[in-house]
Amino acid sequence: MQALIPTYKRLPVAFTHGDGSWLYDDHGRAYLDGIAGIAVCVLGHSHPGVAAAIAEQARTLVHTSNLYRIPLQERLAERLCQLSGLDAAFFCNSGAEANEAAIKLARSHAQQRGITEPQIVVTEGAFHGRTLGALAATGNPQAQQGFAPLPEGFQRVPYADAEAIANLDDERISAVLIEPLQGEGGVKLPPADYLRRLRQICDERGWLLMIDEVQTGMGRTGQMFAFQHSGIRPDVITLAKALGNGLPIGACLADSKSSACLGPGSHGTTFGGNPMAARAALTVIDTLEQEHLVAHAASAGNALMHHLQERLAGTDGVKEIRGQGLMIGIELNQEATQLPLRALDKGLLINVTAGSVVRLLPPLNINDADLQHLADGVADLIGEHLAEYSA
Ligand SMILES: *Cc1c(COP(=O)(O)O)cnc(C)c1O
Repeated sequence: MQALIPTYKRLPVAFTHGDGSWLYDDHGRAYLDGIAGIAVCVLGHSHPGVAAAIAEQARTLVHTSNLYRIPLQERLAERLCQLSGLDAAFFCNSGAEANEAAIKLARSHAQQRGITEPQIVVTEGAFHGRTLGALAATGNPQAQQGFAPLPEGFQRVPYADAEAIANLDDERISAVLIEPLQGEGGVKLPPADYLRRLRQICDERGWLLMIDEVQTGMGRTGQMFAFQHSGIRPDVITLAKALGNGLPIGACLADSKSSACLGPGSHGTTFGGNPMAARAALTVIDTLEQEHLVAHAASAGNALMHHLQERLAGTDGVKEIRGQGLMIGIELNQEATQLPLRALDKGLLINVTAGSVVRLLPPLNINDADLQHLADGVADLIGEHLAEYSA
């Protein structure tokens, strides 16, 4: 570990293999995975269908570069366009890169309409990634600390406040980049009409509505994409995390009006959408559909929420239990950053974000028994933590 640049404070465990919602460490201990590699392993670990597809693809063709046509990438683009209602896709390798593509697309779209210094509206508490452009869009001063100068061209408003965006009056504004619910920011849900109101504002002003679905996409919230709860059509969405169930792949999908702004030579990536990653993503989509996992995320999310509420609602120290589908946050009224380590002791993998929000993002195909186990484990853990704190 000393040979690693210490960008992570890692928990003292290393996993050797996984099976469904469970991971196993090098001492043979089992852990129920309540975080799924940070919303990545939607189908759980070692999914047989994904394993077979990537093994076969590895024996057939891994990489050719985007100098040539890649039929699997074209098929994946068509599937994602059908599912999202958008018109064209650009593939990359991560969420940050997907957002970089969206930022460049928005700037190019604005420049072509004569706006020479385009501005993108972003929100407080937002998380869009760690590369410089995505970091400038991110609304977390701690993440930005020490990396000046950051790219310009972002205007920040409070999250979940559509009128703060409506009130902006700057001719350089050309796009809004928004999470449908904030993940890293603390599992924050905006009012139900937020995206509809933003769509209306963007339509009136000719701004692009760009939705960062990197964490919420691929069924996590009980719809294939979280914007679909609002019945709107965005101009751009970005995807990554769950798209390849662990194989690195990201995507920026755009409407035909804006997608044409990134022409040949304007953007690119060596690895993006290679046959291996595209095959994994196609298998993820097939499996989500065949196993009805988007609907399952909605019902399992309701069940998990119900279990948690039964155990924790009204408990002193529990501020709020909230979420959508299988993206759930339990906000405590005190720091909770020690909880992931204590959870490890109990054979549970959880995460804490924004200091005091226990975040759960289990695989979408988690079964009822494991769901109950997760709820009980988390409730016990929070109960013990709060008892100790008040003692
Ligand atoms: C994780 C995340 C990102 C960054 O994705 P990386 O693959 O880590 O670059 C961007 N946006 C949101 C909403 C995320 O949750």
